[in-house]
Amino acid sequence: MSKLVIAFGGNALGNNPKEQQALIKKAVKNIVPLVADGHEIIISHGNGPQVGIINLAFEDSYENPDIPYMPLPECTAMSQGYIGYHIQKGLRDVLEENGITKKIATLVTQVVVDKNDPSFKHPSKPVGPFYSKKIAEKLMQESGEIYIEDAGRGYRKVVASPKPIEIIEIATIKDLLNSGHIVIAGGGGGIPIYKQNEAKGASAVIDKDLVASLMATNLKADMLIILTKVKQAELNYGKENAIKLGKITLEEAQTYINEGHFAAGSMLPKIQAAINFVDETNGRAIITSLDNLQNVLIGKNVTEIYKK
Ligand code: ADP
Ligand code: MG
Repeated sequence: MSKLVIAFGGNALGNNPKEQQALIKKAVKNIVPLVADGHEIIISHGNGPQVGIINLAFEDSYENPDIPYMPLPECTAMSQGYIGYHIQKGLRDVLEENGITKKIATLVTQVVVDKNDPSFKHPSKPVGPFYSKKIAEKLMQESGEIYIEDAGRGYRKVVASPKPIEIIEIATIKDLLNSGHIVIAGGGGGIPIYKQNEAKGASAVIDKDLVASLMATNLKADMLIILTKVKQAELNYGKENAIKLGKITLEEAQTYINEGHFAAGSMLPKIQAAINFVDETNGRAIITSLDNLQNVLIGKNVTEIYKK
């Protein structure tokens, strides 16, 4: 029996609640055999597109006094509940269809960040929908926010993405696991809070891959499984001479980072998260697509980072 931390990518969860519920229901089907085999499961998920949409829904608060201003940490808390609900319900439904009864809990999770983290001066984490260059330029002029090109897919708003330091609810996650729950935690990278002075929310979105890695390390997991839109990470991504990566060592992964093969804010944090986890534990880290989860344990068509 292994302990598996599985991270779902926010960008693979569709563009609206209906799409999300359907995609999650499909994805969690692949978790059923893992539960049936007795593995302990911790699920984390991204919230880049979702937190951006929630944030956008409150945007009129600048002009409409009936709409309260909703800070980013609160938007992340909402996204944890909203995505957690879909995972909790989808998983319960498919487990029931397979005659398995299992307790499932979504935990609102806070993560400590440093007030002096350099990222607050250099926002880099894409959130919300993709826009054309023309619209992004207009939005930048109007709002003073920063929009950047995101891995060839269009322009997106970027916010600060500080390094996660400590998961506040880690002991609760352990308690839930020990009492037989599948745990959904650290959603959207957790709600960023400052430890200094008082527990105050930080206007940032922590990268969920780095939090999933920290959680997997804290829980001494056997595997960190990062599920996204692509089956494998690639060298020369988006170019004609692209090469899919299979099993690579820590050192190879670091070399490819140094050579600039992975885009910041998308594939780079996944590779970094995988490296951090493998370096600090004896675990394996896998990056693959949401629909390839059934092949993770046999290592087929996945990118795996391991310690030699
Ligand atoms: P998630 O929501 O799962 O975190 P992201 O969009 O943040 O997804 O990251 C996955 C995306 O990273 C892929 O869909 C791909 O467009 C992009 N990407 C950037 N560099 C690479 C690379 N070297 N290999 C594969 N995908 C890459
Ligand atoms: Mg991402």
